[in-house]
Amino acid sequence: MTMIRCISPVNGEVYAERPAMTLEMARQAVAHARQAQKGWARRPLEERVKLVLAGVARLNEMVDEVVPELAWQMGRPVRYGGEFKGFNERSNYVASIAADALTSIVVEESDRFERRIEREPHGVVFVIAPWNYPYMTAINTIAPALMAGNAVILKHASQTILVGERMVRAFIEAGVPADVFQNLFLDHDTTAALIAAKSFDFINFTGSVEGGRSIERAAAGTFTGLGLELGGKDPGYVMEDADLDAAVDTLMDGATYNSGQCCCGIERIYVHESLYDAFVEKSVAWVSNYKLGDPLDPETTLGPMANKRFAANVRHQIADAVSKGAKALIDPKLFPEDDGGAYLAPQILVDVDHSMEFMREETFGPAVGIMRVKSDAQAIELMNDSRYGLTASLWTKDAERAGRIGRELETGTVFMNRADYLDPALCWTGVKETGRGGSLSVLGFHNLTRPKSYHLKKATA
Ligand code: NAP
Repeated sequence: MTMIRCISPVNGEVYAERPAMTLEMARQAVAHARQAQKGWARRPLEERVKLVLAGVARLNEMVDEVVPELAWQMGRPVRYGGEFKGFNERSNYVASIAADALTSIVVEESDRFERRIEREPHGVVFVIAPWNYPYMTAINTIAPALMAGNAVILKHASQTILVGERMVRAFIEAGVPADVFQNLFLDHDTTAALIAAKSFDFINFTGSVEGGRSIERAAAGTFTGLGLELGGKDPGYVMEDADLDAAVDTLMDGATYNSGQCCCGIERIYVHESLYDAFVEKSVAWVSNYKLGDPLDPETTLGPMANKRFAANVRHQIADAVSKGAKALIDPKLFPEDDGGAYLAPQILVDVDHSMEFMREETFGPAVGIMRVKSDAQAIELMNDSRYGLTASLWTKDAERAGRIGRELETGTVFMNRADYLDPALCWTGVKETGRGGSLSVLGFHNLTRPKSYHLKKATA
């Protein structure tokens, strides 16, 4: 029997494990979901929305277990209180727009014709979720998919193996039928075999580019709809008229919060030459205030990375950049808790350029590169010099200028004077190798349903 294991970054030991389901067991679970979905979709929308929100409320009641469990599984310090703020905000927002988002488009309602486009649930939606924000990334699809009348099968990351189990428990205790929302413990081969057998009507995958490729390959020829929310290398650009303190505060938080393990974390910053020195100096002071350590200690502000292999990748990128001329500004002596394993000190690199892997590939750790720029044109060119495109964070007092620059950027979201935030009213989407499709907002509902056209000609005279 294959076991799926979470090795805790806190102490490097197995924190939780579950046996992987066999393909046969998984097929049966999907068959039950398919059967249950029809009855779920026939229930009134208000009832489905109410039950999903009841599941969200039930999960909130589990806060005292959820928060330390998250710290053990992926290292986020308990002082941040889990992911409830975003989890609740997203759930409540999609609930508030569900009726409008799913309403029919009526083209004609006359004595002679009824012509309209209705939205139908796909059927069984498969959600594959990552460990970095294990509740928030999963709920982006689960809440609207269930509200729209789909059944949902969730496969969560091995690193956060308990999250799917807990979410499903909360939703079922709140009254969502057990077959309608199921968590399955699946290894990669079984996941691919289910997808290749066309078990699902829509798949949302959130994770790495390589993972996304594997899912796309498994789905090839099945015509299953795919939403792919993949990696990023998100830039910040600080213009000469920016509010410097606000830019430092938001961009450094965006680069390092959650140990830099945010899909829309800031990974590279371009600063106008007039503000460059001050920006770098203030950023070093900002980052130096972190207290790295045990995430279960309420004093800790920066936990370990989720796995020592992720930290090893960050160390490799930093060392490679330094060997090519980059300068590391954070003194490691400030962070004696850095153990060469999962506990990693934050870092700021200057004298970087795009020949370095550190400035091109996703780092996904508490390290950021800062470059000096002379003009918008140069900043735009550098920001677009990436195979990814999730968000870009522009710092200026001039919204017209931000709009103009935004139109030149190859990205899913343009921020002005903010970063690293997912607004549930807007479509969460990426370009290039960051993926395709979109979640949340009214468009998220559209992606989780299909249009059906009704062209009804009334009795002819
Ligand atoms: P990952 O290794 O690709 O894993 C994501 C999920 O996919 C996990 O449940 C994983 O299961 C599963 N998976 C990966 N490869 C698979 C395969 N070949 N077959 C079946 N399942 C597979 O990514 P991660 O390390 O968890 O997450 C970090 C990445 O996610 C970063 O690149 C980050 O940028 C990206 N991300 C993007 C967004 C966005 O909105 N664009 C949001 C969050 C994260 P196992 O854990 O069992 O391997």
